[in-house]
Amino acid sequence: MRIAIVGGGLAGATAATELRDRGYDGRLTLCCAEQHLPYERPPLSKGYLLGNDELDSVFVHNADWYREHEVDLRLGTRVTGVDLSARRLVTDAGDESYDQLVLAMGAQPRRFTLAEESGVPVAYLRTIADSQRLRQAFADTPRVAIVGAGWIGLEVAAAARTAGCEVTVHEMAELPLVGVLGPEIGQVFADLHRGHGVDLRLGAAVTASDLAAADLVVVGIGAAPDISLAEAAGLEVENGVLVDEQLRASHPEVYAIGDIANQAHPRLGHRVRVEHWDNAIEQGKVVAHNLLGAQESYARLPYFFTDQYDFGMEYVGHVGPAGYDAVQVEGDTSDAFRAYWLRGEVVVAAMHANDWDASEEIKASIGTVRQT
Ligand SMILES: Cc1cc2nc3c(=O)[nH]c(=O)nc-3n(C[C@H](O)[C@H](O)[C@H](O)COP(=O)(O)OP(=O)(O)OC[C@H]3O[C@@H](n4cnc5c(N)ncnc54)[C@H](O)[C@@H]3O)c2cc1C
Repeated sequence: MRIAIVGGGLAGATAATELRDRGYDGRLTLCCAEQHLPYERPPLSKGYLLGNDELDSVFVHNADWYREHEVDLRLGTRVTGVDLSARRLVTDAGDESYDQLVLAMGAQPRRFTLAEESGVPVAYLRTIADSQRLRQAFADTPRVAIVGAGWIGLEVAAAARTAGCEVTVHEMAELPLVGVLGPEIGQVFADLHRGHGVDLRLGAAVTASDLAAADLVVVGIGAAPDISLAEAAGLEVENGVLVDEQLRASHPEVYAIGDIANQAHPRLGHRVRVEHWDNAIEQGKVVAHNLLGAQESYARLPYFFTDQYDFGMEYVGHVGPAGYDAVQVEGDTSDAFRAYWLRGEVVVAAMHANDWDASEEIKASIGTVRQT
């Protein structure tokens, strides 16, 4: 048997690890467009960007691990085509055959032309190289304009303020993260950043003249999966590669995992594409089991974490298109607290901030009833 994985990020590397851990001893190829060993991205906007974590700490394994586990790791190798009927990959270094295929190509930052045409240097943040460029730039304490108060924008704002930069954040919505967390907790993030001296400008589209006053613009307006490869191969795509509950794509020998997979989620009852660290790891494990003959559904709820200044939080669940009726907050939102998003009286999502003992409790709260 020959298994090929396209994309050497966290999802692809975890799938390879789990295959070997579960005793798979057939051929295993991992194609990575980047020159780096597979790595984790969260430190790129936090510990590594801040200069607290060493580069070595971001890699999933060192190079020896891939050799010792006979993973044919192709660094700097981009897959440019897939022939599903011939079971062949076309790469920029030659063709490759497979019996089962895993697509794990992740997502790329959305570009923002207005910023690129502003004449001010523009940065995005997805890769080690991006993080290194930002880290170097922050050392000169530039005036930083950030477009987008999502996770990346806010984490970069925290890192830039910590480095002593003057920071302005431009966000079209009325509050940061309002689409994910709602206004109640969105306000907590607005207060957090204003309290650390960020000039947070909300409720208006950024203009070229807003950016002209900056030395550096960082764009954090979300990421999008690159579906061109899957689409050209004839797989069903829509906001990612469409996969079923068991992460199988529209062709029986092909799976997709991580940021690129738009999954029919059995517990949520609708499709969801999750761009989070935990999802990349756990889908990597489940796909390995299914490649080896299991029929496992991926039913885990979305989970994410962030660290900004001295504010750390974990969130689990998914409010989704049906929305929520109320948020219950316990504790002090300027310090440590727990929050529960309710539909009717049922918890559909929960988080804690600076209350790490609550981690298991918030996870267990999903689906339980709370009195309103
Ligand atoms: C700066 C940053 C901070 C983050 N912080 C958090 C956080 O705090 N908490 C959290 O939950 N999540 C966080 N995330 C999200 C998390 O890192 C992603 O969900 C995770 O990296 C997804 O893993 P992946 O393997 O699906 O994709 P990726 O990590 O994007 O890996 C995909 C890899 O595939 C390669 N590739 C693409 N196309 C091809 C091709 N055709 N051929 C070969 N290789 C290809 C890409 O170059 C890339 O290396 C963060 C993301 C970023 C960018």
